[in-house]
Amino acid sequence: MAQRPNVNRTIATLRSTLSGFRAKRQTVALVPTMGALHRGHLALVKEAQKRARRVVVSIFVNPTQFAPHEDFGSYPRRFAADIQALTEAGVDVVWAPSPEVMYPAGFSTRLAPDGAALAGLEDKFRPHFFGGVATVVAKLFTQVAPDFAVFGQKDYQQLRVVTQMAKDLDLPVKIVGLPTVREKDGLALSSRNIYLSELERGHAPALYRTLKTSAERIKAGEPIEMVLEEGRAQIELAEFDLDYLEARHALTLAPVTSVKDGPIRLLVAAKIGKTRLIDNLAV
Ligand code: AMP
Repeated sequence: MAQRPNVNRTIATLRSTLSGFRAKRQTVALVPTMGALHRGHLALVKEAQKRARRVVVSIFVNPTQFAPHEDFGSYPRRFAADIQALTEAGVDVVWAPSPEVMYPAGFSTRLAPDGAALAGLEDKFRPHFFGGVATVVAKLFTQVAPDFAVFGQKDYQQLRVVTQMAKDLDLPVKIVGLPTVREKDGLALSSRNIYLSELERGHAPALYRTLKTSAERIKAGEPIEMVLEEGRAQIELAEFDLDYLEARHALTLAPVTSVKDGPIRLLVAAKIGKTRLIDNLAV
């Protein structure tokens, strides 16, 4: 029978668990999550297991990346089911600090990422977000000191911000980004998909469909701005309230006007009912 992961809730127990691995010179890969795990998270775990001898999955719904009006309170929390899934996946360690362990009284340091974190995409609609993400991920990296950290391309701007943060802070961790895991109809798996009504779920694949047709048209040489305008209209026709559909340089996230500007990534965010979904695709 598969063994339950070693669940750590304090810095002291985490350190003691990890020092056992280090003493045996075992490599460690970290998969940061907010829990409510799905097949997308489990794909990251599989990759982590390929890269390192030991895998740590963190489960922490990070209060500092949510604005007061966002869904911190109602974000799905499924700890028992998550532990079951991680047991079946053969994960060694779960790091599940409380907010008080992560942010003890008097905590007063926050990273302010620049560059990709100020690209005018997620940051425009969630100005708190990347400061909170960069700070918590930097803390996770110093707590776990992983050799590898595995993230999903699903949160593409976040992946760029975290990669740059690790580089800027000289953290000796290799960041690995994995392709988005999708439902059969193209909808990107997300812990937030459970918020969708049946009707909204029916409309939701419009995001991926639009990304796909837009990427094909841009690749075929059609003018980027025209393709995006039509894509925006398609998304709104599917009952979404669009935040953005943009074409950006895949590494810097700077705006692009032509395929000659470098590798292009299309990025979208839109609300359907109360649920905000994001997705992205390479051109
Ligand atoms: P979250 O729990 O939503 O904060 O996500 C934790 C990690 O899982 C992040 O690196 C996400 O990019 C990644 N992730 C979320 N959804 C997917 C997906 N559908 N496919 C691959 N990775 C994902």
